[in-house]
Amino acid sequence: MRSNVTPGPSPFACDVHTHTLFSRHAYSTIGECVAEARLRGIELIGSTDHYSCMISPTLHVRDYQHFMNFDVWPRMWDGVQVMRGVEADIVDLEGHLFGWDLPLREGITGKAFASEVTLKQIVWRNIDYAVASIHDDDFTLDATLAQTTDMYVHALEDPRVLILGHSGRAGVPFDLDTVLLAARELGKLVEINEHSFATQYGTGCRDACRRIAERCAELGTMIATSTDAHIAHDVGRFDNVAALLEEIHFPSELVATKTARGFLDVWHAAMDA
Ligand SMILES: [Zn+2]
Ligand SMILES: [Zn+2]
Repeated sequence: MRSNVTPGPSPFACDVHTHTLFSRHAYSTIGECVAEARLRGIELIGSTDHYSCMISPTLHVRDYQHFMNFDVWPRMWDGVQVMRGVEADIVDLEGHLFGWDLPLREGITGKAFASEVTLKQIVWRNIDYAVASIHDDDFTLDATLAQTTDMYVHALEDPRVLILGHSGRAGVPFDLDTVLLAARELGKLVEINEHSFATQYGTGCRDACRRIAERCAELGTMIATSTDAHIAHDVGRFDNVAALLEEIHFPSELVATKTARGFLDVWHAAMDA
């Protein structure tokens, strides 16, 4: 249930999946999200706008400039560490991420590139990490469990993907243990996403998220907690995720987002591997 009462400090020091108004169905600026993070005692915020066909039907590099000028964002902004990310759509059963196969011939000014690059290569040049999620599951509808499992594993194998996004909400069945063990081996994170507990997604989604969290605890796979906030108001509000983790006695050493230091250590290790 959404509350307007001023909440206490966030139970986790990091909120690593949030959106700005660049995502089009989100409403706050990065400055507003950072200000809210500061208010909630968040040490580190990850801004991860949609990098997918939700942004533009034209697939032109000019529609993705938001991700290409991240250098102007302060790394430390009013006492909050700001990480630069994307939430990228998984687009096929091979686990490819949006734009991987889209060749670009020219940059945002129209000047031709010396050699051929893809939209993904250009947009991801400046990002710290990606959250890989499924929003449109049409391509999975006739897939076998082996195929969807491989899909998630391959997405996690992308060097810049750090977090498997809301797999409990995507509604695509997969072999949980295989994917969670792959995440553990790769040093990557499985997301437990506050937005997945919104009433609109129903109890099936809650149950799926709970099962994923329980199995992460049993297998020793690290998780990333996030709000998936689409408005600054929701940054740092983890009521359902915090309650779930407490209820199942989730081991705190497997919560990568508990401290900024801990998250950065996981990030460094995963990106350097
Ligand atoms: Zn969204
Ligand atoms: Zn999101």
